[in-house]
Amino acid sequence: MSDTGMNIRNLSIKCGSCNTYQTLSGFARRDEFNVYTYECENDRCDPAVTRTLVEVHRELDEFAQRDVNWRGGGVHGAWGDGESPE
Ligand SMILES: [Zn+2]
Repeated sequence: MSDTGMNIRNLSIKCGSCNTYQTLSGFARRDEFNVYTYECENDRCDPAVTRTLVEVHRELDEFAQRDVNWRGGGVHGAWGDGESPE
């Protein structure tokens, strides 16, 4: 792990409404940024309301650089709890 990049696997996204960790549910690109979408997976929160978008500059995004085949739900689709390395 470099000192300048960042890997979203090192991030925990916690919901301020239900106080549980949100799971990665989507990936998109916007200009120079990779945009990761996190949602609550419980019946307490409406994902449309509590959804979190994390934007990482592409040049710093080690996760996307290492997982070039990952497009958000394909190769690593099983990665949903934010804890498992694969
Ligand atoms: Zn929530």
